Amino acid sequence: MNKEVEKKYKRKVKEFQKHNKLYYDKSTPVISDREFDKLKADIINLEKKYSFLSSANSPTKSIGFKPSKNFEKFKHKVQMLSLSNAFEKEDLINFEKKILNYLNEKIALEYSVEPKVDGISASLTYLNGNLTYGVSRGDGSEGELITNNLKTIRDIPHKILKKNIPKEIEIRGEVFIEKKDFEKIKDNFANPRNAASGSLRQKDPKVTSKIPLKFIAYTFGFTSENKFKNQSEFLNELKSWGFLTSDYNKVIKGIDELFTFHEQFEKKRFDLNYDIDGLVYKVNSLQLQKRLGFTSNAPRWAIAHKFSADHAYSEILNIDIQVGRTGALTPVAKVKPVNIGGVVVSNATLHNEDEILRKDIRIGDTVKIERAGDVIPHVLEVDIKKRDGKSEKFNFPKKCPCGFETIKEFNKITKKYDAVRRCPDKGFECEKIAVEKIKHFISKDAMNIDGLGKKVVEKFWDLKFIKFPQDIYNLDYQKISSLDGWGSQSASNLKFSIENSKKVTLDKFIFSLGIRHIGIENAKIIADFTNNIKSFLNFFKKDKIKELINIDGIGETQVKSLEKFFQNKTNIKVVEKLSEILNVKEREVKSKGKLKNVSFMFTGKLQNISRAEAKSLIEENAGSIVSSVTKKLDYLVTGEKPTNRKVEQAKNLGIKILTQKEWSDLFN
Ligand code: AMP
Repeated sequence: MNKEVEKKYKRKVKEFQKHNKLYYDKSTPVISDREFDKLKADIINLEKKYSFLSSANSPTKSIGFKPSKNFEKFKHKVQMLSLSNAFEKEDLINFEKKILNYLNEKIALEYSVEPKVDGISASLTYLNGNLTYGVSRGDGSEGELITNNLKTIRDIPHKILKKNIPKEIEIRGEVFIEKKDFEKIKDNFANPRNAASGSLRQKDPKVTSKIPLKFIAYTFGFTSENKFKNQSEFLNELKSWGFLTSDYNKVIKGIDELFTFHEQFEKKRFDLNYDIDGLVYKVNSLQLQKRLGFTSNAPRWAIAHKFSADHAYSEILNIDIQVGRTGALTPVAKVKPVNIGGVVVSNATLHNEDEILRKDIRIGDTVKIERAGDVIPHVLEVDIKKRDGKSEKFNFPKKCPCGFETIKEFNKITKKYDAVRRCPDKGFECEKIAVEKIKHFISKDAMNIDGLGKKVVEKFWDLKFIKFPQDIYNLDYQKISSLDGWGSQSASNLKFSIENSKKVTLDKFIFSLGIRHIGIENAKIIADFTNNIKSFLNFFKKDKIKELINIDGIGETQVKSLEKFFQNKTNIKVVEKLSEILNVKEREVKSKGKLKNVSFMFTGKLQNISRAEAKSLIEENAGSIVSSVTKKLDYLVTGEKPTNRKVEQAKNLGIKILTQKEWSDLFN
């Protein structure tokens, strides 16, 4: 048992070390802040539960990351520590309880409350008022000497003229980037903290000076004399010495009051010019701070009360209407940028017209946004109390931005109109749909053209380089190489991957056409039915689409959608042109597997798996699917409510009948 726990612990510490390096040293994290914090918490909890666990690389022992070899090292006179985290009220109650136990006193503690600016900390040593050393936190004991880089930041005074400045004092604070400046460079960094860290730790200070970094001061490290009583008093002094301090610093007594303030602040943090990921509470009395001291990696007298990592509040600036590949109009809220678990969110989906009506979402509203896992950020609810009385109900446009009147389809099964409003799918005639179709065409599961991402498609579309998918194969690479951000190498790389994509299998080709209701699995079925590109073209020209209805997996919806697609002349032209340019091959069928030479047919509803997925599984194991009960069939697989006729036929022919479980047992 202990061995298992130790193994798990070691694995987590190793993982932590890897991400710690990416986070602090390389400024290129690959996991979110939420995952990073969770990993830290997991390790801490394991250590709490099993006292025999310990490692020098644990987050309870190590801080940040050792200084980079690019810079001269500098030993901090007073360690630059981390902060413990609190997420729940209970964590705060425990924090105060521990302090009072440690002090063995029953007093009402006063806290200095400060926004936890999400940047990277830096230490500035002033000798006789002159900025002499500027250092990064590094691993807490040793940092990197980056004085010249820090001097490029305007908020950092090079000289302090006030008489009351100690002979030697080390001022600590946070280097960060404002949200508006981050917006300009956000494509290069995961979040503002990485932008600040990456820019500050450049070898060449000239590079640092190009990024508008800011500095907020919040504490001192080493000082040759200490005349201050309270943290709040010291913060005021910092201001008088010429430092920028936060306008939101405050003094609060009592855990309930801290908690309420946190709740309120969380709802307005989007209004700050910079990113914060929580509030820091510090025991205000410097004398008590001294008595409390430090654990191995954090002060006992301070805690960071983090904001939720999966939701945040923000204000809706506008509601944009986006048109998808199949014509669905999706309303998207443009919100004031807010950091949710390490990712800056400025768009949140509102799903559809009905959702806006139901929640009565309006421009100017303060809303709660959720971003959990990889799900697209979406608006959960409106904070009605924040409404000023001037806002108006949102009028969902009845027209697509392309000008066509939109429609709501009637669903025959539910006997209700769809919640989604659509541009009637006229294909390439709607400009919005056309771009989306091209984006789909190049995507991974379709033609898979590396180097031609969605952004590039949009750019080429705006420049009128492409209007239809076939235009991709007739690009002017000379012109492309002279575009901003391009060169001859990147243009020739693009050419290479476009040429490479020309060889494609029929199923991928069909899928890439982006016909509504024809997903990857349906495309495979149609590819198998039509066999090769020539008969695929003839099949649709001769309008034999209805024959498909007899194939398992294809229903009326798919047939109707295919008919509609091939009634459109532009679509036919696109398909014909592409078939001339591309080298479309037959679908590759797996030849080895447990189900080789075994054929199946399904009837009835399967549990926890779609028909398409079930077919894929059979194909992956080299089996085949047939569409009618004949002697060629080996197994009839029955789900819920199978068609009696098929079961009877199978029985008459002596074909084996399997339940879903028996079927899946055939190949595990
Ligand atoms: P962590 O990086 O999670 O260990 O959290 C500690 C860090 O929070 C410090 O090293 C600072 O970079 C940062 N921080 C931001 N604002 C403050 C503040 N007002 N007081 C102390 N630390 C702060």
